[in-house]
Amino acid sequence: MIWESLQTALEDHSRQHLRRCRRTLQTPCRPETRVNGEPLLSFASNDYLGLANHPDLIRALQEGAEKWGAGAGASHLVSGHMEPHDVLEHSLAQWIGFDRCITFSTGYLANLAITPALVGRGDAVFDDRLNHASLIDAVQLSRAEHLRYPHRDLNVLEERLRHSCAKRKLILTDAIFSMDGDIAPLNELFKLAEQFDAWLVIDDAHGIGVLGEEGRGSLDYCGLLSTKATSISPRILLMGTLGKAGGISGAFVAGHSSVIEWLVQKARSYIFTTASPPALACAQGESVNLMKRSDHLREILRRNIRQFRTQALPICDDKGWTLVESDSAIQPIIVGDNAAAVSLAQALKEQGIWVPAIRPPTVPVGSARLRFSLSASHTTDQISRAISALSGTLCAP
Ligand SMILES: *Cc1c(COP(=O)(O)O)cnc(C)c1O
Repeated sequence: MIWESLQTALEDHSRQHLRRCRRTLQTPCRPETRVNGEPLLSFASNDYLGLANHPDLIRALQEGAEKWGAGAGASHLVSGHMEPHDVLEHSLAQWIGFDRCITFSTGYLANLAITPALVGRGDAVFDDRLNHASLIDAVQLSRAEHLRYPHRDLNVLEERLRHSCAKRKLILTDAIFSMDGDIAPLNELFKLAEQFDAWLVIDDAHGIGVLGEEGRGSLDYCGLLSTKATSISPRILLMGTLGKAGGISGAFVAGHSSVIEWLVQKARSYIFTTASPPALACAQGESVNLMKRSDHLREILRRNIRQFRTQALPICDDKGWTLVESDSAIQPIIVGDNAAAVSLAQALKEQGIWVPAIRPPTVPVGSARLRFSLSASHTTDQISRAISALSGTLCAP
């Protein structure tokens, strides 16, 4: 029967320690969680500023629902584009410092929109090897030639750009890489985009709200927003999400107004889907206000990152693990082997600490890791607890 091969494939998956299991939480998104009645201290969420339970967001969602109802009722181009969506677009554009924004239900859908709208057959996409899966899927949808370059390797990228005879070129990159936490060389990528007349599409899911002046993200952090020439360059498109530091869900694409208008007209994952609930747009607008005003939370997050790195480094050296070079909230410890990563995560869990083990195909084979996500909502004491659990684990690789 046609489905029987699935059972075998699932069993293979388990044997390779690749089978994922979902855990059901009995608590909201916060560091102290309860999973199957068991209390766990979580380092697994992307709620970097701890806004997911902010009373202002909850109130905006409630009041938005009172005023605008539950659903938008249609897609944006039919009758689902409501005032809260419009207000949100404007406040995002003003905050990020771009001409115009368009919003999407999720970051995945936003990424699926951009690349296929800009390039197609006969064109080429230059894609960092460690880019997020949604960017890779977008390249496949676009039918453009897919040229992957080694992680952050500008020499190889330049070589590929120089030798490409594609009609149109597009450089695609995460700003902060989601499994390593390191940052892309955005200034250099912009120079190459200028030199070879390419689009530059930047996914800042992990930088928005976390880095830069007023949390404007990685472009601001790298100084790209402050130079006049680049902030108005129509070749840059910036994707940001509101489900990580923003504490809710949803995403936006920022760019030159004619480029954004093109997305409104052409982006299939915008056109052929119901607009997100207007109440959500009300809460997302409030999230933008909160992210802007959260310098104090960003300072706490930076302090937590410093503490984590200072305390984790000697333990990693001692155990033969690698603490990845990262200034972001994503702090991975590479263990190597799949089974070792899983048993290390299990040992931590037995000590009440929840850190996800990340395995291939999410990361390259042989680089299985623990991925700590830090938040401004973690206390100094909670980080110390995680560190002492880590130093006490017996499962060296
Ligand atoms: C989380 C993430 C996305 C997807 O965003 P969602 O809003 O969760 O769909 C896209 N790109 C990167 C780099 C991400 O980390």
